[in-house]
Amino acid sequence: MRVRWLGRVNYRDALALQEGLFAYAKDDYLLMQEHHHVFTHGVSAELDKNLRCTPSEVGAELVRVNRGGDITYHGPGQLVVYPIRSLPGKFGDASPADVTAYVCSVEQLVIDSLAEFGLIAGRKAGYPGVWLDADTPNARKICAIGVRVARGATPRRTMHGFALNIDPDMRYMREHIVPCGIDEWPVTSLREEGSNATLRDVAEVVARLAVERWGAVASSAAPEPATTDRVDVAWEYEPDAVGLQITERKPEWLRPHVQHGPEVLATKKTLRDLRLVTVCEEAGCPNLSECWRDGTATFMVLGERCTRACGFCLVDTRKPEPPTSDEPRRVAEAVATMGLQHAVLTMVARDDLPDGGFAHVAACIREIRTSNPSTAVETLVSDAKGADASLQLLFAAKPDVFNHNIETVARLQRVVRPSAGYARSLSVLARARRAGLVTKSGFMLGLGEERNEVESLLADLASVGVSIVTVGQYLRPTSDHLPVTRWVSPDEFAHYRHVGERLGITHVEASPLTRSSYHAKRAAGVVSVAVMTSGGSAGAASVGAHVPDLVESGL
Ligand code: SF4
Repeated sequence: MRVRWLGRVNYRDALALQEGLFAYAKDDYLLMQEHHHVFTHGVSAELDKNLRCTPSEVGAELVRVNRGGDITYHGPGQLVVYPIRSLPGKFGDASPADVTAYVCSVEQLVIDSLAEFGLIAGRKAGYPGVWLDADTPNARKICAIGVRVARGATPRRTMHGFALNIDPDMRYMREHIVPCGIDEWPVTSLREEGSNATLRDVAEVVARLAVERWGAVASSAAPEPATTDRVDVAWEYEPDAVGLQITERKPEWLRPHVQHGPEVLATKKTLRDLRLVTVCEEAGCPNLSECWRDGTATFMVLGERCTRACGFCLVDTRKPEPPTSDEPRRVAEAVATMGLQHAVLTMVARDDLPDGGFAHVAACIREIRTSNPSTAVETLVSDAKGADASLQLLFAAKPDVFNHNIETVARLQRVVRPSAGYARSLSVLARARRAGLVTKSGFMLGLGEERNEVESLLADLASVGVSIVTVGQYLRPTSDHLPVTRWVSPDEFAHYRHVGERLGITHVEASPLTRSSYHAKRAAGVVSVAVMTSGGSAGAASVGAHVPDLVESGL
């Protein structure tokens, strides 16, 4: 079972990640997180009766979810756990008995976990969830449970799970809503019951018991049964790794002999005339000649000033300029002049724009397609802060490859890309995949990651249906940026290529000098051949691409 502590996650991101793992993951997952303040409600919720505040006035989101059940609350101090599992045993329709059996196993997991903190919990007849003193007038609810089991899908996968109150702000469940529409019984928390257990303490127990009872499964990369594949977004801020001196001499394999022929110089002139910037030049990429000769180039649109400041990136963080309306036309003209077969559009993060700049990127795609119908277009974009509306703007333009870099392993996210997040990036990739796009992601090595963390990252990318992954060596731009912790050998890159492709990722481009767009055209070609030969869609075969009609219980 792949256990993931994801930190504090936006509810919509977690939902999209769940749906991605539900649809594409071959392995079972146990997602554990806290959510930012959010009220979620089912389609038949009685909001006029059970919602007693204006969510935005109390700093909460209100999310309508395609489920039954009334309104519930998630927020800091509440451990939220989503088991995404393939239920063992017989296939086909999940009978109500099967669902009840699964719900019982989830309730029992919570009950046994609470017992380890001295709390004797149980079930209350006629009510969902887990209770204390359930059969007494002093009954109080400590955990809400709501699960879904796929009907008519084989294997039968589960999603959603439970929300256990450790030390949340109880006003959200007492003053702002009537949780689950149950106003005849109160809610409680471990803290109110006198326990000083932390959210981390409880998460550790839940993870251990879940793995013990829902079992060890062989992961596709390592056939020998692995008990657990555990990955944590860092619980605390981890200081920068010490690493190598910036003056440290690079190994031979990182010192390419770059020679730019006359065609490169001519192309540079074209780009200057069109007032365009390519990442190839900006980053001084050693692969420039090869890529341009290969008919691939990466245009940086929306300017060079980023609203973020990732620890590895040499970028201008001054106030960004407004997008230039004729840029899509100029990019399309450059594509035609350069005769590109595969054009990559990349962007800095534009959190200053209402749509994150995604409408502009979509306009670039349309312009390129109009004047260069045979050119494939790949987009390497930010996470749009997880905003569905912005993402849909780009999905609708149907880039041939949707690329979003996750950059590093879960534990190092906070240090390396403080404005982004592991769960958010996986959820953006899952949403693009479910929108029918070929998805791609990339990360660097040499920032302090461990081998097992990299293998888990590859497993997570495969599990949300990613078809293409790039892995390259991190190079430190300046002494103000994160240090390089080690030079990674070409053999280790080859190992990750092997592991990634065994996990179901169609193409892994991994080498010391690999960059996000390196061999981009070739990689896209490999995927389209795979799609044709599999007669299906790219990437990990969709276990249950659409979220089928679901049987649900609890909430
Ligand atoms: S968001 Fe992208 S462009 Fe901006 S600092 Fe991070 S890596 Fe660089």
